[in-house]
Amino acid sequence: MTYDFDLLVIGAGSGGVRCARIAAGHGARVGVVESRHWGGTCVNLGCVPKKLMVMASDYADMVEDSHNFGWSTSPGTHDWATLIAAKDREITRLNGIYVTMLEKAGITLLTGHAQFVDGHTLRITPSPLAPSEQPRTVTAERIVIATGSTPTKLDIPGAELAITSDQAFGLPKRPERVVMIGSGYIGIEFAGIFAGLGSRVDLVYRRDLPLRGFDEDMRTALADAIEARGITQHRHANPVSITQNGPELVLTLDNGQAITADCVFMATGRRPKIDALGLANTSITTAENGRIQVNAESETTHRGIYAIGDVTDRINLTPVAIAEGHNLADRLYGKAPPRQWCYATTPKAVFFSPPVATVGLTEDEAAQNGAVDIYLTRFTPMRYTLAGRVRKTVMKLVVEQQSQKVVGVHILGDEAPEMLQAVAIAITAELTKADFDRTIGIHPTSAEELVTMRTRTRETPEASK
Ligand code: NDP
Repeated sequence: MTYDFDLLVIGAGSGGVRCARIAAGHGARVGVVESRHWGGTCVNLGCVPKKLMVMASDYADMVEDSHNFGWSTSPGTHDWATLIAAKDREITRLNGIYVTMLEKAGITLLTGHAQFVDGHTLRITPSPLAPSEQPRTVTAERIVIATGSTPTKLDIPGAELAITSDQAFGLPKRPERVVMIGSGYIGIEFAGIFAGLGSRVDLVYRRDLPLRGFDEDMRTALADAIEARGITQHRHANPVSITQNGPELVLTLDNGQAITADCVFMATGRRPKIDALGLANTSITTAENGRIQVNAESETTHRGIYAIGDVTDRINLTPVAIAEGHNLADRLYGKAPPRQWCYATTPKAVFFSPPVATVGLTEDEAAQNGAVDIYLTRFTPMRYTLAGRVRKTVMKLVVEQQSQKVVGVHILGDEAPEMLQAVAIAITAELTKADFDRTIGIHPTSAEELVTMRTRTRETPEASK
């Protein structure tokens, strides 16, 4: 049997593009099918535009803080349309880079919506990216599903009145009053963006602290930082309904409270984009949460069909999707052993102002394996002592008591993601507290605290199992 391609990748997001490029570099005949936008969620509706908007939202505080440094600046006004247009120009530039990159790698670009006919055949039909394209059928020896995920909404009356992150990137104007539902990555980041740009923000979440899954000290520090940014937190609250009241929206909570706003934003998780893939024509199975099940080799339950990135039940982060795609292409077509990554020490960052970044185990997770030593420091960075701003940095080392290995590092503070990326190497290399201690600091920085925390803050005994 001869096929049109050795490998067809469905989805030109971070994971799909890396997989396609590496496979083509190994000599495979590769095609990539994309229905919406080159570069996928990260470039178009995720990491990249989000980070640009976080940067935009930081300027107001910077202007205010500059006064104690001798600058006479006035607050100024923010023009939302200028920001969105600049962001869109940057994305269009990146879309072009993705297309060029794929073409230069000798990859065939197929625009349209792909649906499985069988395990080797895809039917490609017109999609928003190629509305007038003729339907066609293509075959491949192997197929990779890299279609990513899409935001979900809570199933409550009036949910259709709420936006998700997909719409937030292109709103015609900045809403003056925003209610954010959800305190995960997206909820926290966009609450910070809108607050920084001048909106009144109410953050609604169902726990006692935001950012479930992160270290408790960081969650507490973040709750304080959210308050310091002027955001109102509604804890232990569940949305019941959204109603339209003239030009306004009213979100009602299960505690009876009603919040009036111009925009209700649901940041309540994402689900895999698999609905229209025709998976019924394959033997692919999904997990209870709807994500495609794969084995350690990224192969689905249908032989020869693979899945990478957010569509699978693994860590849903761009760099992980890239690693999965790269590793898969190396394994399928490479001559040398495939490049490997350590997923257990995947660093994570939430781009609030100030951001939170983390690598390794939380204190609670580490205590499951035995007693731990905790080193914790909380301070006001130099910039804010002079500026007179309440903006703390919190740093925490979680050290396995017996081996003295540093198994977790957690930071809330300016440049935390930049610091953590470097620290993650030390955690992956399983370095000890003594290794941190014998490293000379850079003065004056916040990061030097990582190597100067001498006194143990507390000892946490092994958690009872
Ligand atoms: P998250 O899973 O991070 O957060 C979802 C939020 O919605 C949580 O606060 C959750 O509460 C809440 N929620 C879920 N269901 C309900 C419900 N029925 N009622 C009330 N609250 C509910 O999802 P996001 O949408 O924020 O982000 C999706 C994913 O995208 C992230 O997990 C991450 O993988 C990725 N991402 C990464 C970013 C980064 O790396 N900086 C940035 C943005 C996204 P609870 O915690 O109580 O369950």
